[in-house]
Amino acid sequence: MKRIKTPLEQNGFQRYSSSGEIVHYLRMFASIAAPLARLDCIGHSAQGREILALYCGDRSKDPHAAQQKLRIMLVGSQHGASEAAGCEALLYLIRAVLSGELQCLLEDFEFMIVPNANPDGRERDSSKNGNDVNINRDFVLLSQPESCALDTAVLRYQPMVVLDMHESAVLKRKTLGLEGYLTDFEAQFDIACHPAISENLRNYAESQLLPALISAVEARGLRAQRYIREITSTKQPITHGDLTMRTFRNKAGLRGALAILLETPMEPKADPHPTFRNIAVRMEKQWNCLQALLRVLHLQCQPILATVMRDARFSLPRIMPLNGSYVRRAESPQALITLRRRDTRQLESIQFADHRAIAAHDFLQLPSAYIVQAHKDVFADLFARHRIPFTTMTESFEGLLESEVFAGGDTPEYACTVLDGYRERAVLAPGSLYASLRPDTARLLPLLLDPRSSSSVFQYPQFTQLIAARQPLFVARMFDQDR
Ligand SMILES: [Zn+2]
Repeated sequence: MKRIKTPLEQNGFQRYSSSGEIVHYLRMFASIAAPLARLDCIGHSAQGREILALYCGDRSKDPHAAQQKLRIMLVGSQHGASEAAGCEALLYLIRAVLSGELQCLLEDFEFMIVPNANPDGRERDSSKNGNDVNINRDFVLLSQPESCALDTAVLRYQPMVVLDMHESAVLKRKTLGLEGYLTDFEAQFDIACHPAISENLRNYAESQLLPALISAVEARGLRAQRYIREITSTKQPITHGDLTMRTFRNKAGLRGALAILLETPMEPKADPHPTFRNIAVRMEKQWNCLQALLRVLHLQCQPILATVMRDARFSLPRIMPLNGSYVRRAESPQALITLRRRDTRQLESIQFADHRAIAAHDFLQLPSAYIVQAHKDVFADLFARHRIPFTTMTESFEGLLESEVFAGGDTPEYACTVLDGYRERAVLAPGSLYASLRPDTARLLPLLLDPRSSSSVFQYPQFTQLIAARQPLFVARMFDQDR
């Protein structure tokens, strides 16, 4: 097969690949590489563009062998044109896996590749979708078609590993840049670290996968580190990334995947660059990290399969923390971080308070089911978006119910303040929604439905206003199976 050029190569690195060119490239590979490749439309963007997933796998030898293969989902450019390099690197990967030097990986891996997760953002030269929403903050509400498509794809393909590929500008014009500094890193990785994610998954990711990944990237000549959240001030403490279900990686982790975030840097736009916005260099960094990841996954294939299969999807936790927060590291309360002076471009070590320890709190004993007694249409809709199975009770029934009395009001922070607890046997009228906790939903339901959770829908105004002040919440936990 003759070497096919990616859209970026075809245009000589003069601009990013367009969403239309990406569709064309994926269609071409799906047709010439069948049956190793199959193209699935997993949804449509806010402006109606197709969101495509290219599935790459070889089931020719033994149709049952697929069960032993590692399923890997790779997601590029959730942040559209603002972070375009992940998509471009995934187009390289597709070629390498289907017609090039990485085809041997299909003996052990199956890929689900979504190179252009935000096609509107790519066309609008934006990080947001066609509704001007940041998709990677929408995995609680799932109000946007792009986040719905990714979340549903995780459920449908059941990947064991998920990679979410991002970039970050080293010049934060409105924050750290004003203090005269640029950030200085070459590659950083975070793991899904919401403390409600299965402990086995989090431990494996932190103690096995992450160190190996960082070494593998460094062996390729890039300085790599565990992710440090955007530094906007030299006075702030440093932490890792988001600890809520709003972000794709945490949602995928709660759905039982080993989920990883990759971020590589973008040099200031105003610098002279050999290619359009330095895309060749940016893509090379993403491509290097991608190859390092695949190498590590290949070496760790068996333990990852064992960890993911043993635990996350088939166990029902008994207690679970609703929240996590970053706290000061007891053993090393300060950290030296290297920044670059904006004027001289010299490196400088700056001392930061180190808040990279994660504390889990608000532990909840898990019920057998959640009952929704009011606003049923709203919640039926929410459950449907998250693909959470539920039934509508056709008869009245009795059960031991537990809920809280909240302050209510307009602002989420105040409205979600607990005033009192409530626990009693009650008779419920027909029409209530009943969602039982199953291994695949047990971690999602409490986070979504408990106003004390920072990942709860009640943190958003349209749900906050449904909380009736000083009354037991209409969403209750049920502790037995009296139906
Ligand atoms: Zn991003």
